[in-house]
Parts: sequence; C-alpha cells; structure tokens
Amino acid sequence: MSVHFVIVGGGPAGVEAAATASRLGADVTLVERDVVGGAANLWDCIPSKAMIATGGAITSSRRATALGLTVADATSDLDALRERVRSISELLATSTTRQLESQGVRIVRGSGKLVGPHRIQISPYQSDGAPQDPFVADADAILVATGSTPRVPDWAQIDGDRVLVTRQAYPPSSIPEHLVVVGSGVTGVEFVHMFRSLGSRVTLIVSRQQVLPQKDPEVAAALESDFLESGVALVKGARAVGITRDGDGVVVACEDGRMIAGSHALLAIGSVPSSAGLGLDAAGVEVNAGGYVPINHHCQSNLDHIYAAGDLSGRLPLASVAAIQGRKVAEHVMGLHTREHRHLDYDKAASAIFTEPEIADVGLAEADAFALGRKIRVTKVPFALNAKAMIDGDPRGFVKLVSDPSTGVVLGGSIVGAHAAELISVIAVAVTAHLRVDDLAEAIFVHPALAEVLSAAAE
Ligand SMILES: Cc1cc2nc3c(=O)[nH]c(=O)nc-3n(C[C@H](O)[C@H](O)[C@H](O)COP(=O)(O)OP(=O)(O)OC[C@H]3O[C@@H](n4cnc5c(N)ncnc54)[C@H](O)[C@@H]3O)c2cc1C
Repeated sequence: MSVHFVIVGGGPAGVEAAATASRLGADVTLVERDVVGGAANLWDCIPSKAMIATGGAITSSRRATALGLTVADATSDLDALRERVRSISELLATSTTRQLESQGVRIVRGSGKLVGPHRIQISPYQSDGAPQDPFVADADAILVATGSTPRVPDWAQIDGDRVLVTRQAYPPSSIPEHLVVVGSGVTGVEFVHMFRSLGSRVTLIVSRQQVLPQKDPEVAAALESDFLESGVALVKGARAVGITRDGDGVVVACEDGRMIAGSHALLAIGSVPSSAGLGLDAAGVEVNAGGYVPINHHCQSNLDHIYAAGDLSGRLPLASVAAIQGRKVAEHVMGLHTREHRHLDYDKAASAIFTEPEIADVGLAEADAFALGRKIRVTKVPFALNAKAMIDGDPRGFVKLVSDPSTGVVLGGSIVGAHAAELISVIAVAVTAHLRVDDLAEAIFVHPALAEVLSAAAE
C-alpha cells in the first residue's frame, strides 16, 4: 500500500515536497488555503522581483546615453504594472497546479489543522471562497509548511493605506511621494530600491551604522554609496519606536527623539512563523518560543513522521531553501535516505539581494572568517576592467572570492554588480562541490562575459 503523505501549506516547500513524493510513488494530498505557490508567489519573491524588473528598466533607460542612445524619460504605467504583477503570479500558480495535478497530487483548497499525530482536519473552500464541511484525513507522514507573515510590532499602527507592511505595498495603487522604509535588512533595501526606481523619494531608517548588518561591510558600503548617489536618504543609528498618521502623511518616531516625516511608511522588520492554530500542540509537535518548529537534518520535528520545512522551520527564510527542504522531506518519507546522501548545508545556500547593483553571496564571508580567526585567502576583482561590463555600460561592483590558502578549496564569495544573482551560482557550485580556485581558473568561460571576472578572481 502506498504511503499517504499530507502536506499543509502550498508554498515552495509544500509544492516541491508534493511533486517529489508523488514522483516517488506516494499518495499525496496538498492542502493550501490560498494559492498554490504560496506567499512566495503571491506576495514575496515574485511580485517584488516583477516590480524591481520594471524599476530596473526605468533606471537602465536613464543610462541609455552611455550606450549611444537618446530616449525619452521613462515613467511607470501603474495599471500595466499591476496587471503584469498579477498575471505573472497567476500564470505561475496555474502552471504549478496543473503540473501537480497531472502527477496525481490531490490539491484541496482549504485550511489544514492537525487533530492528532496522524490526523489532519481539512476545512475546504468552494471556488467562491464559501466554506464546505470539514473532514478528517489520516496520514502516514505529514509536512507542515505554512510559512510566515510580516512581523508587526505593537508600536506600529498598520492601516494598509499609508502605514504598510510589505504585502500591502503591491500592486501599488499609487507610487508614494515620500516613502519612509523601516528596516534595512534584505527586504527593506529591496523595497528602497524598488520604490526609488519607480520614482518615489525614499528615506531608509537604519537601526545600526550599516545597511544589511549581516553582510560583508564592503558589500554593504557599495550599496550605501549607490543609494546615496540615487538620492536615498539614510538615517543611521535610529531605532524606530512609533509610527503615527499625520494628516496626509506619516511620522516615524525614533528612540533617540528623531522624527522622520514622509507620505507613507513601510515596515520591513522580519517575519513571524505561521504556527498558531495549526494544532501542533494537539499532535504533540514541539514548537519553540519563537513559534518555529525545531527540526533535525531530515526536517523531522520531535515526532518522526511529522516534518516541518520552509519559513516555519526557522532555518534560512528563502524560497530556494524551502524548496530543497521540501524535496529532502519527500525523499526521506519515501525511504530514500537509508542510502548514502548529502545532508542539507544551510551555510552553503546562495542568496541574492535584487538592488541595483545586485548583491549575492554564498558560503564563508571574509568578515565571518576574521571573526572565527580562520586563515583565508581573499581575492577581489572589479568589474571595471571587464569587457562585457564596459559593453553593457555598467562597470559597477566587484567579485570577492574566499578560499582556503593551504588547499585552494573555494569557501565562499560575494558579488556586487549586474547579474550578481545569476553569477553567484558558479561560486555556489564550487563551494558545494569543494572545487579549488584552480578549477575555476582553468574553466574556459565565454568571452566577452561578466563571468570572466570570476575566473580572474580565481587566478
Ligand atoms: C518581500 C519578500 C521578498 C522575498 N523575496 C525572496 C526571493 O527573491 N528569493 C527567495 O528565495 N526568498 C524570498 N523571500 C522569502 C520567501 O518568500 C520565503 O522564504 C518562502 O516563501 C517560504 O516558503 P514556504 O514554503 O515556507 O511558505 P510560503 O511561501 O510562506 O507559503 C506558505 C503557504 O501556506 C499556506 N497556509 C498557511 N497556513 C495554512 C493552513 N493552516 N492550511 C492551509 N494552508 C496554509 C499559506 O496560504 C501559504 O500559501 C522573500 C520574502 C519577502 C517577505
């Protein structure tokens, strides 16, 4: 008899788990209360990058003179932008749904809740959203992958009009005249870049002295200088403690007494896991103080047959990580991991920040190596002398490669520059496969290409 595997939450973790498990022969039920593809598709990765792509086209058009062109000043068409964002998300959700259904995955649109260690109560909705009678499904294995939602502190009165969380910022009904962004992590800086390139005046409240506090200081400095050049105001060392509406505007109060006024405020200060109301207690699943489900390297909770993946697992909150966790869960459920296999190594996950220039990194950062007292070799090569960067008219940024001085093994790298999110994949493969700098230096790359900077950094 086949394994009945029930997945609650159809984001990247749930979708990848469903696709892999059904391919391996499981009887799979996927319960998703909103849209297949999850928050990643509806609110987070996809709409934000779609808007950033439009903003990027506007800023590229401003650089067109460097390419020998004269073009009229580009501006955004909000109706077209809204339609574009909506249609990309819809297309992805529809194609993923079709793909899963063609593989035999049973998709139930509704809410799932554990009512026992092997039992899930499913409250389905009709296509118009009307609730149907709940039913209970028995499962041999369960994956909870319900993701997270934006964190809202009690000092911020979110009104969805002028005081917003990220999910309310798109599709935008208007481009804010002066947006004050609170939070200078990855999400905050992406929203700064997005709205600045779409024409807003933007002020960024930075709680420390550096944007992207977790990143390599040199990388953060490159972004800061680009922000300043494009007119973004940085308010550093400022911890926001209140946001109030003031007529047609907002005022953000900082702990040190500074008051920052704008037309709109956007909070980007992290997320909270969606574990409340999931029945985890009833099933005996351990939840930590932050609301996350602690997992082992197979993504198992304290109960062997109940797994958690994606943002709910409290590991790296990335769609890419969620998806690979989902795949590993499915393989484990289907008994594949009794054979030798590679455990997930979260320290080797590549990540990117879709600002301009783009930023991407993977593995060991120079600053972290120093903090650990680890000897490393660092090579840094700018894009300024690269032929393709000159041809494209965008020679900003650099590649930094971190390796072990005694073995030459590539330990990590950072890239600031055009297409960094694509280029980092080369270093990610090198880090995962324990390649040496010589392997990168001897690979024959395309010419002219930005990737040639990677082989130059490896020489
Ligand atoms: C603005 C923003 C931009 C981002 N951009 C990127 C990016 O470019 N690249 C990247 O890798 N990561 C990005 N992330 C992070 C990424 O979105 C998350 O890490 C990813 O979505 C987590 O996937 P998940 O599978 O845990 O669940 P989610 O995508 O959060 O989906 C969870 C799903 O579970 C459903 N659900 C919840 N409770 C129930 C229930 N009881 N019953 C049924 N269904 C339920 C929800 O409806 C939702 O669809 C971004 C995040 C933000 C906030």
